[in-house]
Amino acid sequence: MRPEPDCALCGLCAGRTKIVLPDGNPGSGIIFVGEAPGESEDREGRPFVGRSGKVLSAMMEKAGFSRADVLITNTVKCRPPSNRDPFPEEMAACRPFLESELEGARLVVGLGKSACRDLMGYEGPMGAVVNTMCSIEIRGRRIRFLPAYHPAATIYNRELRSELERTMEIVAGELR
Ligand code: SF4
Repeated sequence: MRPEPDCALCGLCAGRTKIVLPDGNPGSGIIFVGEAPGESEDREGRPFVGRSGKVLSAMMEKAGFSRADVLITNTVKCRPPSNRDPFPEEMAACRPFLESELEGARLVVGLGKSACRDLMGYEGPMGAVVNTMCSIEIRGRRIRFLPAYHPAATIYNRELRSELERTMEIVAGELR
């Protein structure tokens, strides 16, 4: 189930250039979920192609896999104005598309606070849950869920960067 090209189920449709659909290997069963498209993603129609995407791709390569080995998506498929966090009602409107992407997953990696709030219902500090495997329920099925830092948060923080590198090592272990 994918949004129609003219989807207007929430207000984010007003400012978008392109709907940003999942990218990568849907058959891998491993899905990275970020927050929302940014400016580059909105322009190109692909998730994680801007600065955060470069950080993410570099970390994947360092761990021995690439973005083509997994599926990458976002909680909402259209860019929020000025890159603000998506509102709960926007996430709720886009949720059926996300659930459809996650349905066959064996591992979901939540990149950052918004993804963890949307999928785990978690509102606390990321440091308390990062890299601690848990599970979420999607359409009646439990799926393993790994909370992780958003790549953007790691750009100027070496400690967070090493935690995200640890996330990539866990994923690499799943792919082997
Ligand atoms: S964010 Fe999702 S629900 Fe909202 S307009 Fe875009 S595709 Fe439709």
